[in-house]
Parts: sequence; structure tokens; C-alpha cells
Amino acid sequence: MQFSDIIGQEEVKQHLVQTVLENRVSHAQLFLGPEGSGSLALALAYAQFISCLEPGPADSCGHCSSCRKYSKLIHPDLHFSYPFFAKKAEDTALKYLSEWREAFLSNPYLNLNEWRNQLDAENKQANINIAECHQIIHKLSLKPFESEYKVMIMWLPEHLEKEGNSLLKIIEEPAQKTLFLLVAQNQDQILQTIISRTQLVKIPRLKDRDVSELLMYKKGVSETKASQIAYLSEGNLQAALTFLQSDENDNFQLFSAWMRMTYADQGGTILEFVDKAAKLGRENQKNFLRFGINMIRESVLILSGASQLVHLSDAELNFITNFSRFMDLQKAEAISGELEKAHYHVERNANPKILFLDVSLQLVKILKFNTLPAGTQYIQN
Ligand SMILES: [Zn+2]
Repeated sequence: MQFSDIIGQEEVKQHLVQTVLENRVSHAQLFLGPEGSGSLALALAYAQFISCLEPGPADSCGHCSSCRKYSKLIHPDLHFSYPFFAKKAEDTALKYLSEWREAFLSNPYLNLNEWRNQLDAENKQANINIAECHQIIHKLSLKPFESEYKVMIMWLPEHLEKEGNSLLKIIEEPAQKTLFLLVAQNQDQILQTIISRTQLVKIPRLKDRDVSELLMYKKGVSETKASQIAYLSEGNLQAALTFLQSDENDNFQLFSAWMRMTYADQGGTILEFVDKAAKLGRENQKNFLRFGINMIRESVLILSGASQLVHLSDAELNFITNFSRFMDLQKAEAISGELEKAHYHVERNANPKILFLDVSLQLVKILKFNTLPAGTQYIQN
């Protein structure tokens, strides 16, 4: 994780880099920022910068042996602690290290809920237990293996039990070249004794502009939609990604219903659909059609026997597998062509009612009456 991988937070990044350049890295720091602000990612980028063998003026190099290990979270001098579900008293966070790496690498902005889902949810009480505290003390008593610094990043120290006080001594008088970074969201829920022994790094919520830019450039969301989601998510990137997903779910509901009514040729419901689609607005119509084109592409994979390449949620996969039974490659190509054409016309301000009615009728022809529109590129089955 490099600073450049993290959106926004330019002032925090500058401050952190400055502490390294001025040689005043405090050995115990509390990164305090709201959910979805990127505080965990910032702590990791900071540790990577400090451990980098060829650092630039404002970021780690990203390619030295230390950076490469950091990018996979496998550096021997990088340790993590986080809440987990202890089944036995002697369980420590180490037991869930591979789940942790996977969860963080797939979403550095993850929240406790997402992490909980990654773990066995049977036992609901997630915390950082006494066995884990002893493990931390042990890990930090060892000399660094490869780096100058040994780093412990503790995510959500709010979940330390009162035995967390056993950590006070190493926070106050750490071994040489030890860096203890605590990443928290709620100051009121952290042991007061820990707060008083750490240096505070305050991380603000993300700016709406940063969130909307990420949605636009990394997730392909339209500008209008991106600023809408950014506004609703109040600087919480995790919330923004969840909004985005539920938005895709709406597309899925509408698209799967549409396909069902066209292959069953349900005239009345098609008119209802047309009304609904016409009211979506231009940007949403484009998103909806893009979503549909993608779904058809996935069904082509299934039809060509390459289901292992399909990337869909369970519900989507279920639908598209059933739907593929009404399809063949030529029909898929024809439907895709109709959706592409519709997308083109939406962009050029076509009347949405006429447009969606026309596409629906074309789809009925293709799916129900096996009539392929003129100009369809025929594929050899
Ligand atoms: Zn490096």
C-alpha cells in the first residue's frame, strides 16, 4: 500500500511523511478516523514508507523487496492485530491471518461488518483477547528480521478487553525501533490509559469530491450518480461502495424482470417496464443498459462453456444460467446489439418511452419468435 494508492487525505499524508523526514517518528501512534476514511490504509502506507529501502521524497518506492512484501502483507516485520472470534481462550488473531490478508487486500476500506462476514459468524463476540495481547508482547520483544523497524498495526483497539492494559508497558517503553500503530474509530471506546500514552493522528472524513472521483474513475460510475452517492455516503468510502452495490442490485432486479417479460411476451408488464425505465433519467438508463450488456456478455461465457470465467453474484448467476436456456450465441449477439444501440440513442436524447418500447419489442422478437434483426453479426456456433 503506497500513499498514492489512497484517495484524498493529502494533509495527513504530508504530515506523516514530514515526521519521517524530520526523524521524529513517534513509536506509539493512534490513527483516529471515522469508518471509510482510509485510516487503516494510511497506517499501512506509513509503515511501508518507513520500511522502504529506496523511498522517494513523499512515498515508498513500491518495488524494493520490502515494498513487495508489504504489498502482500507478508513482510516478516509487519504484524497485525484485529478483533476476531475466539473459539478457545488461547486463540489469537494469527489464526485468521489469511482471512485478514484477503479481506484487507480486496478492500482496504473495510469495516467491522465486512470483516465479520469474512469470519465465522456463529460466535458474535469479536474482540482482542488476553491471549492476543500476550502474543503482541512476544512479537514485539523479538528483534526485527529484515527491516530497521518492527511494526504492529492494531485495527480497532476499541475491542481490546480490559486486559489491554497489559500492553501499556510496551506502548510506553517499547523495544528499540518498534512502531505501534493503533487504528481506531471511536475515541470514547478506547481505554483511557492507552489514549494517554499514544500520539494522536487525526484523520478527517473523506471529501465528497474524493469519493465521487474514485467512483467515476475506478468504478465507471457516471458523474451525476457518483456525486449523488458521494453526498449520501458522507465521506465514508465503504458506505459509498455499498450504495453502489445496491444500485447495481436495482439494475439486476429491473433487468432480470425485463428479460423474463420479453421471453414470455407479456405485453401489459412490458408497458409497465417502459414507464419505469423512462423515468430513470438519462444517466441511470445508460447505467442500466451497460449493466444489461455486461449480463449478456456473461451469458455468452456460459453458452460457450466458459462458466469458470463468469464473475457474478449468486442471484445474478442463478438468473443468467436459467436465462441462457432460452438463448444461443446468435440471440445473445442480437440482444447485445440492441442494447448497445439503445445506449447510443439514450446518449443522443432519444425519447425514452419510444426507445424502451422499441427495444422491448425487438427482444420479444428475438427471444420469443426467434427472429433476428437485420444486420446481426452471425456467429458460428
Ligand atoms: Zn520500497
